[in-house]
Amino acid sequence: MGEKKKKIVKSIKVDVDKCNGCRACELACSAFHAAPKYSSNNPARSRIRVIHEPLKDIYVPVYAGEYAKAECMGRDKYTIDGKEYEECAFCRASCPSRDLFKEPDSGLPLKCDMCLSDPPLSEPLCVQWCITDALIYEEREEEVEEEANAEELKTGLESLVNKFGLDKIMETVARMSISKKG
Ligand code: SF4
Ligand code: SF4
Repeated sequence: MGEKKKKIVKSIKVDVDKCNGCRACELACSAFHAAPKYSSNNPARSRIRVIHEPLKDIYVPVYAGEYAKAECMGRDKYTIDGKEYEECAFCRASCPSRDLFKEPDSGLPLKCDMCLSDPPLSEPLCVQWCITDALIYEEREEEVEEEANAEELKTGLESLVNKFGLDKIMETVARMSISKKG
């Protein structure tokens, strides 16, 4: 067994029923990430977007998650309270099939970083600005095995070896190490 390490897991709980669609969270996030900080605000640059479905009368705050290089092959449809929502409506990914969570000028993907800063904030800015408490910040401590990463690496390598063969992998690693040294 490997050594145990403590890790802080940060999360924001979203209570959709409490969101009134004021979009203060979008303004706060975009101002926090402006350069210089707080010099401007533009919801298009926010890492949280409030999805509004006018006919269905619902506001859903969605956080920008991982960047996806390609559109996904399978999509989800949600039915909530008997109303069906569009595919992609609540997806957190920035992906080629839509404009959400992309820098308007450069097109670079945006991702929530939990307002990572130095000195750290007591709570992420969107949470501080949400007066209805639709966004609740939580931190919990988790113990993780140091060995877990080594195990993951082994599994990943095994699948590569199965796919390409050991010789090919060794050859590629050797080439990579030469180009790094050079
Ligand atoms: S600040 Fe809170 S209530 Fe306002 S839109 Fe954002 S999540 Fe909803
Ligand atoms: S936690 Fe910070 S970075 Fe993430 S959406 Fe909220 S304000 Fe933006």
